[in-house]
Amino acid sequence: MRRLKTSFLMLLFSSLLLPPFLFSQTSSLHGIDVTDLDRKADPCNDFYEFANGTWRANNPIPASMTRWSKRWAAGESSKDKLKEILETASADKSAPQGSTEQIIGVYYGACMDESRVNARGMEPLKPWFGRIDAAKDTAELQRVMADMHEIGVDDPFAFDGQQDFHKPSWVLADIGANGLGLPDRDYYLKPEARFKEAREKYVAHIAAMFKLAGWDEKTSAAAAQTIMGMETKLAEASLDNVALRDPSATDHNTTFAQLQAMAPHIDWVEYFKHVQIPQDVDMNVDQPKFMQELDRQVQEAPLADWKVYLKWHLLNSTASSLSAPFVEEDFAFTGKYLSGTTEMKPRWKRCVESTDQLFGEALGKKYVEKYFPPEAKARMQEMVRNLLAAMRDDILSRPWMSDDTKEKAMAKIATFNPKIGYPDKWKDYSHVEIRRDAFFEDVLAGRRFVEEDDRQLIGKPVDRGRWGMTAPTSNAYYNPLMNEVVFPAGILQPPAFDANAVDAVNYGAIGVVIGHEISHGFDDQGAQFDAEGRLQNWWSPEDLKRFQEKTSCVVRQFDSYTIDGDIHINGKLVLGESIGDLGGVKIAFLAFQKSQQGKPPAPTIDGFTPDQQFFIAWGQFRGDETRPETQKLMVQGDPHPVAKYRVLGPLSNFPPFAEAFSCKPGSAMVRPEKDRCVVW
Ligand SMILES: [Zn+2]
Repeated sequence: MRRLKTSFLMLLFSSLLLPPFLFSQTSSLHGIDVTDLDRKADPCNDFYEFANGTWRANNPIPASMTRWSKRWAAGESSKDKLKEILETASADKSAPQGSTEQIIGVYYGACMDESRVNARGMEPLKPWFGRIDAAKDTAELQRVMADMHEIGVDDPFAFDGQQDFHKPSWVLADIGANGLGLPDRDYYLKPEARFKEAREKYVAHIAAMFKLAGWDEKTSAAAAQTIMGMETKLAEASLDNVALRDPSATDHNTTFAQLQAMAPHIDWVEYFKHVQIPQDVDMNVDQPKFMQELDRQVQEAPLADWKVYLKWHLLNSTASSLSAPFVEEDFAFTGKYLSGTTEMKPRWKRCVESTDQLFGEALGKKYVEKYFPPEAKARMQEMVRNLLAAMRDDILSRPWMSDDTKEKAMAKIATFNPKIGYPDKWKDYSHVEIRRDAFFEDVLAGRRFVEEDDRQLIGKPVDRGRWGMTAPTSNAYYNPLMNEVVFPAGILQPPAFDANAVDAVNYGAIGVVIGHEISHGFDDQGAQFDAEGRLQNWWSPEDLKRFQEKTSCVVRQFDSYTIDGDIHINGKLVLGESIGDLGGVKIAFLAFQKSQQGKPPAPTIDGFTPDQQFFIAWGQFRGDETRPETQKLMVQGDPHPVAKYRVLGPLSNFPPFAEAFSCKPGSAMVRPEKDRCVVW
């Protein structure tokens, strides 16, 4: 599977803002959407149900979606806009070769030509399978593997550019553990029935895919067992999701000689030549233990086993670009079984998503030209400034933190870099060759671009202008190595931000999102990076101890929440996101209060005070209904808690919420003082 290169990007999801004066008292401004409320629910007992229960009851999750809320609906409707852009580009036969329009238009057209894709079956993969079959020894097979890396099949390890944790102004080569087809190591190793079932389904799925590729029943079944055996051993040597959140667990500066000693049966001289990276490059190996296990298998597993392993990962990685039977089998396992969706998205939407994934800065350029007005950027900048000021005030007011550590925290806030909307400089795709009649090869060309675009960064100073998300994306992130908060244009729409809503509603939605991203700079992970993005402790020992005591309260709180009856949320896995929500709600609330100073009192609307509107806006923005299968996937591997607890968790710790709704001590939404978590 393609490894996400965002392991240390803390995603939140969404954002947008306006300077206070723009939200001010006009008669046309509206408050929260009262038709979404479930007025039968007691806000002091279950605020999530109260805030959005009727909307969820009236808007069941569409068959092709894993979760649904107004925010998800907005993200999906953005794809209608992207579709229009792509259809126009595709119809324009006059676009010059290498132009943005030509690349995205021809790519989308090729993707939409389903009959041609189907007629080709698995023929496009045959040259790759042929090369694997022809390899006479491990050296030859390793050359095929290096070529697979160039088309984004990053198995069994990944080779990418990454900022140096100790010198974040510099990009080093990072060798990362990968190579599993199930979501993470626990799926291979844990005894619970749900993991055991996933293993059985995975083996059956691999066999089904090989049968589609023309193999007989017996060979397919044997191959599936071989792959399961190899991956299980790799899983045993891999870190779990909680360990992976600790930056020092994957921090291993390594020389070329050390890499050779760590995995002597991989021909690194040849590999580095192949990827055109000098041997004296600065390098990090995420998981040395994984590399040692990999090396053992390179030495001990028969060449034939490695051949089926590589074929599987090629097939698995490219299945969605092959003919319908492959697409359907891939969906049956990942979409239906693992995530619980019952229908595939329509082909046009999958083609829009694929274009965004591979040529996102070409598509994004067209998107922002049409849908992101320049004034939106200025409005966002203003609101981010307000939230940063609130964070500054909040940290300075913490009684438990010493002045020395506060000074370092202030230095970190001073270097925060907000990025809003879209990159200043777009990627240049002009040399990528895209053909209308060769969709599969177009996908490989796009992936090759992505890989080269990443690899050319290695061994150079970091380019601070780069973005980790495309402009149309409905999400946001914090990157501790850049100390930046990033809000793509795609998030700047209702329900995150609404120019026609009162301040309370915007601060409660996009304001909390901005606050969440800012708070990531001071969560359990972000707090380990300093003002320059270096992994370096800037805390006094006493302050650090007090901070960790405060965060352990959040771990206990989320450990106590369950889904599906008895599956517990993993407090350590969701700690960073939950600190982000807790801090985000607080500083957005403070910034909202400050924004009202010197203005006529904000109105009560539909019976709700401004403070009540603020909290309801958060409860509605976070109003996801989530499929049970996806909830289980999230509890296992997603650092974000399921939406319900992102509402109940922070608000039940926050006294101004209880005050706004006159909740009495002892209510479910008011945690007793001894259990109340406050970090920032
Ligand atoms: Zn986050």
